[in-house]
Amino acid sequence: MKINGNFDNLVPNYLFADIAKRTNAYIAANPDKKVIKLGIGDVTLPLAPIVVDALKKGADELGVKETFKGYPDYEGYAFVREAVSSYYASFGVTVDRDEILINDGAKSDTANIGDIFGADNTVLVTDPVYPVYVDSNIMAGRKIVIAPSTEENGFCAMPDDSVKADIIYLCSPNNPTGAAYSADQLKTWVDYALKNDAIILYDAAYEAFITDDSPRSIFCIEGARQCAIEFCSLSKTAGFTGTRCGYTVIPKELQRDGHNIYQLWYRREATKFNGVSYPVQCAAAAVFSDEGQRQIKENLSYYQENARIIASALDELGIYYTGGKNSPYIWLKCPNGMGSWEFFDYLLENAQVVGTPGEGFGDCGKGYFRLTSFGDRDNTIEAVARIKKLLAR
Ligand code: PLP
Repeated sequence: MKINGNFDNLVPNYLFADIAKRTNAYIAANPDKKVIKLGIGDVTLPLAPIVVDALKKGADELGVKETFKGYPDYEGYAFVREAVSSYYASFGVTVDRDEILINDGAKSDTANIGDIFGADNTVLVTDPVYPVYVDSNIMAGRKIVIAPSTEENGFCAMPDDSVKADIIYLCSPNNPTGAAYSADQLKTWVDYALKNDAIILYDAAYEAFITDDSPRSIFCIEGARQCAIEFCSLSKTAGFTGTRCGYTVIPKELQRDGHNIYQLWYRREATKFNGVSYPVQCAAAAVFSDEGQRQIKENLSYYQENARIIASALDELGIYYTGGKNSPYIWLKCPNGMGSWEFFDYLLENAQVVGTPGEGFGDCGKGYFRLTSFGDRDNTIEAVARIKKLLAR
């Protein structure tokens, strides 16, 4: 037998292992020093009370014969899809509940959606990039082309008409850069996709962090229903990284190569996925209730204030960055021309602060560095004070 040889083409990504190794070695050599981690991409605040109550109530119902549930629908219970549809309506986007599929998070679907596309399609990703888009398509043997995100374009990569792509991954607000596309920029991407008969795979995992008039959904853009699939997640919106729930939106009219895309994906899900557990779907529905939205906004505000604290220190220091606003991520240019890993070591040794070297997300990340706002407030304030002291000219 043979294994899938495409796995040999994966580039080993030791980013987080390397970070842990260097950090642990420093801690072992300097046990008296307090190291603060601003590198994590995971949330730290607990679930909202209304979410925990819904989880418990859902579990209780499973313990009673009259309300017991077996396999859920592949696409999720109607009451959750209805709640997601109303959520979209709250920011002016019309998405029918029958265009929504509930899943166990955005990672699975952004990677697995490739099942419905041929191996000879060309995939476009922006660089730096969330590694899942790249690795899942390498596993499938697809050709990958890059649209560079740079300081010149404000880390909002734009299409190049001379490049042909069939599948386009966009993530806004972006991980790792925190940059969010404007409506005009997204319209340019939609026009490019329509011209190329391509499909945009739009990852909106951080849409809840948007505070200005940047689009919360690709479906805010005219023409997107003819060329886009949207992925979203409750992981960062409502602290579901450990609870696991997200949703994918496929417009019913989206067709390619003589096939209806929703129907293809539904067929794929019916074959390989047996749905999200009932208590978790109850918890998801609770997030979209009025009280749920009020409660999750308390946590979002906490992270947003952390981001503001970090960003305003960089403003004072005159350091270029993107994100901080509309995003839990702050993507900064390493000072004094330092490389990403050089700055990592410099910050660890001189300020005992840990971040993420930008080059771990692609070549265009070289010389950049990611900080996150998911930490504790006091630690964020202390880390920022140390960074300011170290880098003040
Ligand atoms: N998409 C992006 C851009 C992310 O940064 C992440 C998590 O870090 C995910 C998707 C994964 O989300 P989920 O927890 O819903 O699988």
